[in-house]
Amino acid sequence: MSFPCASAATLREETCAGTRAAADTVDAAVTRARAVGAGRDRLNIFVATDLADAREHAAAGAQQMSDTAPGLLLGVPVALKDNLATLTLPTTCGSRILEGYVSPYEATAVRKLREAGAIPFGKTNMDEFGMGSSTEYSAYGPTRNPLAHDRVPGGSSGGSAAAVAAGIVPIALGSDTGGSVRQPAAFCGVVGIKPTYGRVSRFGLVAFASSLDHVGVLGTTVDDAARGLRAIAGHDWLDSTSAELDVPDFHLAGASPVKGMVIGRPKEYFPESLDPRIRDRCDAALEHLRALGAEIRDVSLPNTAMAIPAYYIIALAEASSNLARFDGVRYGLRVEGDGLRGMYEATRSQGFGAEVTRRILLGTYVLSAGYYDAYYRKAQQVRTLIAADFSAVFAGGVDVLFTPTAPTTAFRIGAVSDPYEMYLSDIFTVTANLAGVPAMSQPIGRVDALPVGGQFIATHFDEMKMLTAAYALECALGAEARA
Ligand code: GLN
Repeated sequence: MSFPCASAATLREETCAGTRAAADTVDAAVTRARAVGAGRDRLNIFVATDLADAREHAAAGAQQMSDTAPGLLLGVPVALKDNLATLTLPTTCGSRILEGYVSPYEATAVRKLREAGAIPFGKTNMDEFGMGSSTEYSAYGPTRNPLAHDRVPGGSSGGSAAAVAAGIVPIALGSDTGGSVRQPAAFCGVVGIKPTYGRVSRFGLVAFASSLDHVGVLGTTVDDAARGLRAIAGHDWLDSTSAELDVPDFHLAGASPVKGMVIGRPKEYFPESLDPRIRDRCDAALEHLRALGAEIRDVSLPNTAMAIPAYYIIALAEASSNLARFDGVRYGLRVEGDGLRGMYEATRSQGFGAEVTRRILLGTYVLSAGYYDAYYRKAQQVRTLIAADFSAVFAGGVDVLFTPTAPTTAFRIGAVSDPYEMYLSDIFTVTANLAGVPAMSQPIGRVDALPVGGQFIATHFDEMKMLTAAYALECALGAEARA
């Protein structure tokens, strides 16, 4: 599968030079979307698009060029996950409960994209409220993997990953609470970055689990994703957890050498049970890095095994509280019932899908009197231990860690019906959310023609190091990354 859409850097350059009109870029994206069958009846990538709106943004970006210095993403179409608030298109989070809901304000990440000259291009399908790993749990039906139509694109940012993999846009925004940018990036053979917690404002990202939620970026290449991240990062007074730090030029990370870098290979991420073909791909990638002068060091993150249970307690507890606001009064769907209580019950039971309902119930349970100490407090203690594991390896001189992104390649639609089995998709990704450290996935080869993702993890606010390693690996792998 090739990527017919030009890179973000090329689109910007040509738009600046006046050799490409932003409106033509929009038309090219629409033509490509039609050609690959992005619509509801086939790949089902988008839940809402508005061509006139995209064209208007394209014109606004072009206008910007004559007013000021051209933005980093001038003339670049960017798809948006449907949990990012937009002013003109609805924001439904893939849920019936938000059917037709249009936000009165815009997510900071979306505003920053526009200010950088990007063209918001449609809202993408997702697992309801970000809860899932396959984009099968959407009220709009599943998205299909553009590389293998009988398989899932991963999730929950499956629509965004598919939009990039299908060559419709070079960049898309997603969100990552436990792996929802990196795992779909791995399944679709694209690049996905989850920045450090606090690097990108969460204002306008509909909350799933606030202490774990991140806005992330998917891109065709490391450079596309790095540019997207550069555009949306930075302090925002509207998000009290956003960090007051300068934003480096992430797209310049490739200029630094990997020679002398220490790359940790954590043994817990390469268990005996790991598919040997995925292990081989990771080890081949590490060999490339060694050949470039990096030192590969075996390390241990001993508390990794407790990450999935800790994540699924904390995430669900926070979700049960965050989703309490969808009550039929303030947003979207309202189903009348017997009195106020009856209306709440009818709205919530008809508005939420099965997985979201399961999580609200479990999350409420772990927070209830008598169980709080046994579950929630314990999980928070485990979270501290997992963060300490990362701090210890980075303090010990490791620059970045390298692991597989997911334990499998893209599975068949409908093949994973047990929720617990679905949760295990995130076994290598939830740790970075619990610790708040930056992590990213990139294609490192194929198994049975399906993409395999490799994950770099760095210490807090050191995205530059992780991107330096990623640029070098992408360059060393060349065509092997997609072969
Ligand atoms: N798949 C994980 C979950 O279901 C992670 C989701 C996400 O990162 N939004 O919770």
